[in-house]
Amino acid sequence: MDKQTRFDLPESALPRAWYNINADLPSPLAPPRHPQTGAPVTPEFLEVLMPRALIAQDAASAAEIEIPEPVREVYKLWRPTPLLRARRLEAALETPAHIYYKYEGVSPVGSHKPNTAVAQAFYLEDEGGRAFTTETGAGQWGSALSMACQFFGLGCEVYMVRVSYEQKPFRRFVMESYGGSVYPSPSPRTAAGRALLERDPDHPGSLGIAISEAIEMAAGSGGAKKYSAGSFLPHVLLHQTVIGLEALQQMDLAGEYPDVVIGCAGGGSNFGGIAFPFVRENLRHGRRTRIVAAEPSACPTLTRGVYAWDYADGAGMAPIIRMHTLGHGFVPPGIHAGGLRYHGMAPQVSALLDAGLVEAVAIDQLDCFEAGVLFGRAEGILPAPESNHAVRAAIDEALAAKAAGEKRVILFNLSGHGNFDMAAYGRYMAGELERYDYPAEAVAAAMRELPEITDGD
Ligand SMILES: *Cc1c(COP(=O)(O)O)cnc(C)c1O
Repeated sequence: MDKQTRFDLPESALPRAWYNINADLPSPLAPPRHPQTGAPVTPEFLEVLMPRALIAQDAASAAEIEIPEPVREVYKLWRPTPLLRARRLEAALETPAHIYYKYEGVSPVGSHKPNTAVAQAFYLEDEGGRAFTTETGAGQWGSALSMACQFFGLGCEVYMVRVSYEQKPFRRFVMESYGGSVYPSPSPRTAAGRALLERDPDHPGSLGIAISEAIEMAAGSGGAKKYSAGSFLPHVLLHQTVIGLEALQQMDLAGEYPDVVIGCAGGGSNFGGIAFPFVRENLRHGRRTRIVAAEPSACPTLTRGVYAWDYADGAGMAPIIRMHTLGHGFVPPGIHAGGLRYHGMAPQVSALLDAGLVEAVAIDQLDCFEAGVLFGRAEGILPAPESNHAVRAAIDEALAAKAAGEKRVILFNLSGHGNFDMAAYGRYMAGELERYDYPAEAVAAAMRELPEITDGD
């Protein structure tokens, strides 16, 4: 038989419903708490900030939630995405493992993020909304949302972490080309931003701070603007499950089933997207697939954080969530995987880790870039620095299989390409990238600032 490398689905196989893992969690998610009172948030509080349909999805318990037809129509611009068997990487590693990757870099902006951006823009437009505010780190999320807002005739206001705004102008031009408005964060446009700029006019910013600014602008807009989250919240992970649902069908085409499924984890959305449908197979159909989240050792939320209540943003304006966290005040070192520099983790991923249903590994950025270059030399695609965490974890699994002399079927999500991240690759190849020790002191300081939530837990 001819050796097949690529497993493509026809357009007709595009999923009609997302998978909602709320239906299969060992215990229901704790509802978010109000940032000032600590009491469970009311729908009224959330409705100021977000479209109603998304708030409803966060709390929904049905296992399947229909993908609206206009969203499926836009998905068809790049979905179903390909699944590839990394035969050339297998050969380079001389491993008996079979390595498969689901490639989300074929979307127009080069990552998985439009899977939720398009859905969110659809619901906002459907409810008569006019514009979204949001944060972005390196610019991937801002690009996805700017494009989606353009598709649905909505405005898009993006608070971009200042270091990235200055170092990565190309993503800003992408956002502006799609019609988005981009501001460096901290910005003088918000009280949260002004307070930080007063203390430090050169403040580098962080994702947590940019979230605070985007939320403040939405909350103060009298309903004209709503806030959009690019990761972390249940509805975002729900929308991303289209990745794993396709991958299940494609593994079937390949005639194999994964022993291990891997995704990189920043806020948890591409990891949840590839992993949750396989978690469902474990829980409902007795499969024993290991599910592994790969995170940066400089921001090790799952492997070193605590499972506690904490603010979802940096300034304490967003709801308080039960999750794995390094403390909302923690500003991670400036690793190049900007999309993984977040202090918390999606509550659903946190709950699964706590229940022992998923595992996590922390990886240094140097080991990630080494893996990314190896992958690029074998498979041609230079992955996003974020995705390199998954690539590294997959390579380590394949090498472990080789050492054990066993065949192992490995599936990982290649969440995006790195074509906008060549400055980081350049620094890696010039030997300029640093290895980071675990930032123990910064985490310890941030841990002292956790909010106290005592009841109902
Ligand atoms: C944003 C991003 C991530 C990290 O976000 P998650 O929500 O954890 O998926 C990972 N990979 C790429 C390519 C990204 O753009």
